[in-house]
Amino acid sequence: MKNIQVLLASRPRGPVEESNFRIVETDIPKAGEGEFVARAHYLSLDPYMRGRMDDSKSYAPKAVVGDVMVGTVVGEVIESRHEKFKVGDFVETRTGWQLYGRSNGGGVRKVDPGYVPLSAYLGAVGMPGVTAWIGLNEHGRPKAGETVVVSAASGAVGSVVGQLAKLKGCRAVGIAGGRAKCDYVVNELGFDACVDYKAGNLDADLAAACPKGVDVYYDNVGGPVLDAVLLHMNAFSRIPLCGQISGYNDPDALTVRNVRSFLINRIQLRGFICSDHMDLWKTALKELGALVHEGKLKYRESIAIGLENAPKAFIGLLKGQNFGKQLVKLI
Ligand code: NDP
Repeated sequence: MKNIQVLLASRPRGPVEESNFRIVETDIPKAGEGEFVARAHYLSLDPYMRGRMDDSKSYAPKAVVGDVMVGTVVGEVIESRHEKFKVGDFVETRTGWQLYGRSNGGGVRKVDPGYVPLSAYLGAVGMPGVTAWIGLNEHGRPKAGETVVVSAASGAVGSVVGQLAKLKGCRAVGIAGGRAKCDYVVNELGFDACVDYKAGNLDADLAAACPKGVDVYYDNVGGPVLDAVLLHMNAFSRIPLCGQISGYNDPDALTVRNVRSFLINRIQLRGFICSDHMDLWKTALKELGALVHEGKLKYRESIAIGLENAPKAFIGLLKGQNFGKQLVKLI
């Protein structure tokens, strides 16, 4: 029995390539005093990982070339010398892209796969769900009857944003790439409308989907989509700026022209990182967990099989090839 790890082999220049990663086999780690070892069942692949691969300044430390690639997994404790974790406990832990990881318990969450499926703790009942909850409630602050638009609407964050907006009595409008994703957002997730930004009529389609304008634009993508939505914002509207994925591989793609809209509409834009609001996580996770448990919050997953397929799945995520939360199944 061996551990398998995916290392960051080099920093990408432009789009990520499989050669930026290296897969190695090592011994399974042993728990030291005050530590445990967990066997990962699912690895979460998230857009933020692209930023960690770069050398530039960011809100979090960069990944180290030659180290195990950073990331969060859910798995089962198989050895423990930690008083709070016992063999058989299920945990969410940041041990990175590897099958077996060692932890001292810092930042680890015990999870219950009997309440919601284990993988959901990496999506709707994990960091992406909390991000949606915080961005919408703290920075979007929608009122019943208002129109909330969210981009990357079929994804891990966007799908939760729209469903929470509906539960608040808002009109929820998604923006997604392609007919299949838009149909899912409306028919399965219950949004009122979804605009396919790849169809070539973004401005007219937004006008049709948002007849009363946009009160909250939850921005996951930046670039041309943000620019188009700016022309539909209402007076005193809000933009929680959550992500800019259209520019992660190519920052030049982030050009925005319609800045005048901020002035004439007195728009409040707020960039935020979910970890700025650790005080809200417990409340958010409790609410999200209950909604998933009761079947009131739906989600979809794209699951790659096997750690060796993680680099390819991650490259696909940055191109929109995922459909829902991107995971890698490891067991
Ligand atoms: P998703 O599950 O939504 O997957 C990413 C999606 O982004 C793709 O499926 C694709 O959807 C869309 N996308 C990719 N390239 C482009 C492009 N060029 N233009 C427009 N859309 C594109 O990912 P997450 O839900 O995990 O993350 C969504 C956003 O939220 C990301 O920007 C991420 O960085 C951000 N985020 C921010 C956090 C924070 O604390 N601020 C925390 C977590 C996430 P489609 O096919 O519909 O285009």
